[in-house]
Amino acid sequence: MSDYLYKELPKLGFGLMRLPTIPGGSQKDIDFDQVTKMVDMFMERGFSYFDTAYIYHEGASESVIKKCLVGKYPREKFQVVDKMPMWNITGFDSYERIFQDQLSKTGLEYFDIYFLHGIGVNNFETIDHTEGWKFLKSLKERGLAKHIGFSYHSPAEPLDKLLGEHPEIEVVQLQLNYLDWESEQVQSRKCWEACRKHGVAVTVMEPIKGGSLANPHPTVQKVFKELEPDSSAASWALRFAASHDGIITVLSGMSNIDQVDDNTKSMANFKPFGEKEFAAVEKAVKAFNEIPIIPCTSCRYCTNDCPQRINIPAIIGMVNEYIKYQSTSSVGFGYMMAIGQGGRASSCVECHSCEEHCPQHIKITEHLKKAAELFEKNMPGRPGR
Ligand code: SF4
Ligand code: SF4
Repeated sequence: MSDYLYKELPKLGFGLMRLPTIPGGSQKDIDFDQVTKMVDMFMERGFSYFDTAYIYHEGASESVIKKCLVGKYPREKFQVVDKMPMWNITGFDSYERIFQDQLSKTGLEYFDIYFLHGIGVNNFETIDHTEGWKFLKSLKERGLAKHIGFSYHSPAEPLDKLLGEHPEIEVVQLQLNYLDWESEQVQSRKCWEACRKHGVAVTVMEPIKGGSLANPHPTVQKVFKELEPDSSAASWALRFAASHDGIITVLSGMSNIDQVDDNTKSMANFKPFGEKEFAAVEKAVKAFNEIPIIPCTSCRYCTNDCPQRINIPAIIGMVNEYIKYQSTSSVGFGYMMAIGQGGRASSCVECHSCEEHCPQHIKITEHLKKAAELFEKNMPGRPGR
């Protein structure tokens, strides 16, 4: 791992998965006017790390690199991470074909870090029998990736074993945030410890848990405000993640210029947390844990194969709103928006494909039933699509 990435890189990376889109458009219709301003602000403030993937924004995210960075900034002034979509792999040939497509979409000649995307116990075998590790190593040998690794979505024990078997892995992207630090499902702390044990660097995804730590319940906000009246809750989440050893950078999937402004200000003169701050986070977790919401991060991995085109994260978001405010009338409009371009919750045929892809292990079908009960009772009839 280069010293620059490990020691000097500012500890905030720009995740290109929740970009603003043109009103009324699909995920593909990225609002490039806004995104260009966001990227420029990010670069002007001394940050330089961008994280994209083949599947983000239905395949459109990688083009941000070409449109907003390549040719505008010297190549050595920014770092780009891209990822191989493991669910598209049918054999060894798929790797090269997709990788060449990624080079072409980004306009780059190499990636600073290249990951196998979404590694977990369910696809270890696929990687082995399609020779994914061999392909990954070849990228480094050919100078097409400076560093190699994978993003990871399973418990710590298999991660420890995997890293023992693959000493070529230099970096792992982990879901790490203060709410999941001790969670039995996500196991942020244990996964981070496994990486440290093998001397593997870590990049952090979901430090703000898909935005849900940006504006937490007032009881949580109160804990932070008592110690730092002027810092945002998002800043606490980012700084917590960045305050651990071996972290290359912490990604934030920013959606507007205000978020870029706040996050870059928070991380400009970053200092790792001391005892006082860690104690405040512990208190905040306690307050948070008393609000029982569904831990959806809006990653949208569940929506790709849904035969009913159900906007799962949006509907789950409405159930969470209900849990917080205990009122269907205040979220009824939000539910109508959530089903505006897809099926109703009640149109679910319980094929469970979504649940197989959910890194948070959410029982999606159960929550959809609950949403149908809550929000569809008084709706005019319309066949579920
Ligand atoms: S279980 Fe329901 S929501 Fe999930 S993919 Fe199948 S139809 Fe869609
Ligand atoms: S339900 Fe799971 S897969 Fe779907 S958006 Fe939420 S966290 Fe992601």
